[in-house]
Order: sequence, then C-alpha cells, then structure tokens
Amino acid sequence: MASKQRTETRLHVVHCAATTARQDIGKRTINKQHLNDGVYSDSGMTGYHLVIRRSGLVEIARPLPLWGQHALGWNDKSIATCLVGGARKARAGEEQEWPGRVPDNNFLSEQLVSLSVWHSAILMAYPTAILVPHSALNHRSCPSFDVWRWQQEEFGYNDRLRWAEYKAALDAEADERKDEG
Ligand SMILES: [Zn+2]
Repeated sequence: MASKQRTETRLHVVHCAATTARQDIGKRTINKQHLNDGVYSDSGMTGYHLVIRRSGLVEIARPLPLWGQHALGWNDKSIATCLVGGARKARAGEEQEWPGRVPDNNFLSEQLVSLSVWHSAILMAYPTAILVPHSALNHRSCPSFDVWRWQQEEFGYNDRLRWAEYKAALDAEADERKDEG
C-alpha cells in the first residue's frame, strides 16, 4: 500500500518538522523519528515527499508519484513538503502543541524560496494541485505559518477559495454516497 502510485494529485500539503531553529535536520533524521514514533515509513523514506532543510536545500525523501504518509485520509491525492523548523521550546505552563514544543514561525528566506520553486515545479507536473497547509486538513497549527498569505505575496494569488470549493465538492459527494447507501 505504501508504495502505491497515486491516481490523482489534487493537493500540495505544506508541513513543518516541528523542530527548533537550531535543529538542522534532514530526511534521514525525520525518517528515524517516524520509525521511532511508529509512524509509517518504508525503505528509508519519510512520510513526506520533499524535505526543505534550514539551508534551503531540498531533499527528495519519497518519489513524487507515490502515496505519502503525512495526513490521514489525504495521502491518496496529495504531495507533501516538510519545512524543517516551525517550533520552539515551550515555556513553563505553556500549552504544548508537540511534546515540549509550541509553534514558531522561524523559517528562513532560503527555505521559502525553495518552497516557491518547488511549488511551481509541482504545478507543472500536476497543474490542478491546490496549495494547502496541513492545518486545513487535520492538524491544529502545522506548518506554523500562514501558507496562503505567503502564497499571496509570492504568487499574487492564493488557493484558500479553491480549497474551500474542492472540499465542499468532496463533502457533497460523500453525502450523496451516504444517501444512496
Ligand atoms: Zn504537518
């Protein structure tokens, strides 16, 4: 199941590694973390397709046509990019989003340049892919920055409305199936 090819690609999902600004990790470390956490992972691949390191270096962590393992219920129709960073240590008494850590928009401009280049490349291969933050699907704060605001500044448009329309269409389809069933 893991290495299955997707039959459609409707979303490009942006994640963060939920690491601090000083943690210069990459796909190898993320793969180890995923294995330790019992999150699905195989053949040394991460659940994400791309990992953007602090330097802006982009690591291909999983072949783009394959299913990822990054957002339950959406892996069959999405490509996932993970930006390293996005968290800081929690202060005493602070509500923790991840163990010991809270969201922090600590991304570097080099990383955002790479995200821009790769999103453009993904659109060439998958022209209908909608850019969404993980938080639009099933997480409270991943990737710790406002993806659509960034997209607006970077591309002059954003996919918030396209996402809402796509989601509404999926929900309507599901309702129809329920009525028939
Ligand atoms: Zn995420």
